[in-house]
Amino acid sequence: MLNSKQLSDIIDKFKCIAAQGKVADYIPELSAVNPSYLGAAVVNSDGSLVTAGDSTVYFAIESISKPVVLALALMDNGEQEVFRHMHKEPSGEAFNSIKKLETQADHLPCNPYINAGAIMTTSLIKGNNPDEVFQRIIDFMKKISEDNILTLDTHTYLSEKSTGDTNRGLAYYMKGQGVLGHSVVEDVLDVYFRQCSIMVTVASLAKIARFFASGGILTNGERVIPERYAKIVTGLIATCGMYNQSGEFLDDVGLPGKSGVGGGIICPVPGKNMGLAVFGPALDSEGNSIAGIEILKELSKTLKLNMF
Ligand code: GLU
Repeated sequence: MLNSKQLSDIIDKFKCIAAQGKVADYIPELSAVNPSYLGAAVVNSDGSLVTAGDSTVYFAIESISKPVVLALALMDNGEQEVFRHMHKEPSGEAFNSIKKLETQADHLPCNPYINAGAIMTTSLIKGNNPDEVFQRIIDFMKKISEDNILTLDTHTYLSEKSTGDTNRGLAYYMKGQGVLGHSVVEDVLDVYFRQCSIMVTVASLAKIARFFASGGILTNGERVIPERYAKIVTGLIATCGMYNQSGEFLDDVGLPGKSGVGGGIICPVPGKNMGLAVFGPALDSEGNSIAGIEILKELSKTLKLNMF
């Protein structure tokens, strides 16, 4: 079991690496975040939470919302229906690329963790209007993170909305090809931009990671999703969670990892009922937290968590 002194020492060891990365600037609000923030959280197998570094700072969840929304889409529609709308394969392209949507015969997104797939997933969440859909997403996220104070950051949301034309392009392309169903594109995007702008801490993320690692059970023993759905979410995190660095990450860390351009990364630890999370907004060229990856490598080594 890890204690906070050990976690603090690991963070200190890699703090200098953050200077080699850059905060995301294609969403203006994200470029204002302090690049030297670095925090980590671990939920141990006994449920105890250990945090260190900038662990109380709230930051935008961004793409780490995608596995959460996938879990809710599975609950709303079932496995067969969800994967009638997307595949389960890595795309090998940039997370916001339109290339595969155009070139694949069925025009379906390759997986739920690239932007096209995530927008499709959001379109599958039940609700009578965008407010209701978003409310269901944030309520579900609060439940599985066991963090009741998650909120939407309006500045990040408006920043995403005003600059999200590539995402608009993906969504309108899917609508044009008839694969986005009856959804109103701007309504789906509005929810997508909001889900990315939910503010979390590393502690909330580590609890989400533990939730998926446990097969969909809260720390109080309550089952929220079937084990099968947790396995789908986690398996896809392993193959498609780290943009075009997913293979290398799996080899280096030996755990599934899902990152977001806000600087967070989650690692569910399957079979051990543990969750790891880091926050370091300085990103590498693939869009992953540069110091965060080093911390996860070290944690995996120290705690002997490599699945292979
Ligand atoms: N909101 C971001 C976008 O759609 C999420 C990207 C990410 O974290 O990978 O571009």
